[in-house]
Amino acid sequence: MSSPCQSCGACCATFRVSFHRSQLDSEPGGYVPEALADEETSSTCRMRGTDRSAPRCVALVGKIGEAVKCGIYEYRPDPCREFAAHGIYGIQNEACNQARARHGLPRLAD
Ligand code: SF4
Ligand code: SF4
Repeated sequence: MSSPCQSCGACCATFRVSFHRSQLDSEPGGYVPEALADEETSSTCRMRGTDRSAPRCVALVGKIGEAVKCGIYEYRPDPCREFAAHGIYGIQNEACNQARARHGLPRLAD
């Protein structure tokens, strides 16, 4: 079964994606490309593009609602790893459907 995320991408163009700077590849053991992140506070960063009035993470490739992929999938920060599609594996994540609605995409069933 293919993931609904492969033809969506709405959450990557809706929410601010903030994470601890220890995840940056410039830090020991980190992996998120620093070149794609902006400093937020002394201890946190955010994925570039996710704090705009019309957010879109700079790492998102493709067209929302058609075909997308994360350009740094193996190196994405924790919030992206923890954000699950609504209704997949029984997970209830209304934020997923809120993001989809924002981009005119149909609700995923429970
Ligand atoms: S909004 Fe939901 S379905 Fe769309 S990419 Fe994000 S988790 Fe996947
Ligand atoms: S890093 Fe990847 S999964 Fe995370 S918001 Fe950006 S495009 Fe989406």
